[in-house]
Amino acid sequence: MEERKALKLYFIHYLAAGHMIPLCDIATLFASRGQHVTIITTPSNAEILQKSIPSHSLLRLHRVPFPSQEVGLPDGIENLSSVTDLENLSKVFQATGMLQPPIQQFVEQHPPDCIVADFLFPWVDDLANKLGIPRLAFNGFSLFTICAMESAKAHSFDSSAPFRIPSLPHPITINATPPKEMILFLQSMLETELKSYGLIINNFAELDGEEYIEHYEKTTGHKAWHLGPASLIRRSAQEKAERGQKSVVSVHECLSWLDSKRDNSVLYICFGSLCHFPDEQLYEMACGIEASGHEFVWVVPEKKGKEEENEEEKEKWLPKGFEERNKEKGMIIRGWAPQLLILNHRALGVFLTHCGWNSTVEAVSVGVPMITWPVHGEQFYNEKLITEVRGIGVEVGAAEWGSIGFGEREKLVGRDSIEKAVNRLMDGGDEALEIRRRAQEFGKKARDAVQEGGSSHNNLTVLIHHLMRLRDAKLHH
Ligand code: UDP
Repeated sequence: MEERKALKLYFIHYLAAGHMIPLCDIATLFASRGQHVTIITTPSNAEILQKSIPSHSLLRLHRVPFPSQEVGLPDGIENLSSVTDLENLSKVFQATGMLQPPIQQFVEQHPPDCIVADFLFPWVDDLANKLGIPRLAFNGFSLFTICAMESAKAHSFDSSAPFRIPSLPHPITINATPPKEMILFLQSMLETELKSYGLIINNFAELDGEEYIEHYEKTTGHKAWHLGPASLIRRSAQEKAERGQKSVVSVHECLSWLDSKRDNSVLYICFGSLCHFPDEQLYEMACGIEASGHEFVWVVPEKKGKEEENEEEKEKWLPKGFEERNKEKGMIIRGWAPQLLILNHRALGVFLTHCGWNSTVEAVSVGVPMITWPVHGEQFYNEKLITEVRGIGVEVGAAEWGSIGFGEREKLVGRDSIEKAVNRLMDGGDEALEIRRRAQEFGKKARDAVQEGGSSHNNLTVLIHHLMRLRDAKLHH
């Protein structure tokens, strides 16, 4: 890259692991390419970030106070992924809404050349306009999913499922009905996002595909920059293990357990940072996993650990004797797991996932096929990209599109569907081999994309040059 004065960029992440992890990895990416980066965050998130993002001399954190007292939250709860009930969830939302004045004040006093902000902070749009600087938006979705959401705008969602998404490059039909308020909320956020200078995507162009990139640009007139997979910036075992929160198992414990297993033999089950299933669903899951007969790593919520002394409570979500019977075969992680470390292990065979975009693209980058079990948000769209469009996973048959909730669900996914989906991908038949082959192919493409000369690497070069030109034009104006 030619020698030009480095850019000064601010990154504002949303306060949830699924938004914070990838945007801060992308911030690190800009720093690794010689740009001055500041991540604007809150004190306890800063503590996590300090320990978990690869350190870089051009990257710093700026802390704004989090209004814990004002909303009545205990100290240290500053992230949607650390709450375990609805009351605190809404308090974190409320507190997050109060971050605008201190962030705005800082940015106005020390204006950068560009702001990269989560789309859940739509007010950054006015701020950037006021300062006459470009704003890049980030929403943590794939471009395929953004296209699907844009195309589904005209759909009323009043009638029940299934619905066919109109005018996409592939014929996509969704077999679940999203909660209307969630759709309206996301649509209004996407509306403001389109006013941004461009969109940053934590994906690589080859997985979304040229057809979706063209479709997006043609239908919206907006530009999207594929810079991912962002997680590939993490190289060492420690960097892979420490993300978003402190993991409840050590790198050593995890690796030594996985080291004792055969290649591609372990099923990994994790539902991200915001899914809270009722006990009956976890019970079905346990039965399905056990019936499949495969070895597994199963991540369950932390509070499940506290019930250990109380057998009666435990038996509501775990069949009697489950842990005894599966002592050798399975590892239950109660709380935050070192997901990237686990996914990267050669023993990993299949990932049963809620299709959160980060989990999805993390699995893709290591070539692990998926069993898809979407729960809320935009996950039902991601499922279609994984299964029908790219053929790197199979559906478990989830049909209830929920909201972020704590235990309330009407339709359970039964143990038989779970066992069937696991065996379909783990039993080594022709279909499974073909799906694994495609997953590995995309894994290689993902890793190539972030290398010098790869698509994401090139996009970042072009974007940095672009932003420099904008800055210089402003200076000479
Ligand atoms: N994650 C993790 N350990 C866990 C749960 C989640 O490291 O026990 C990470 C995961 O690797 C991903 C992020 O948290 O980077 C979750 O993001 P995703 O988009 O998959 O789901 P969300 O939590 O937003 O629903």
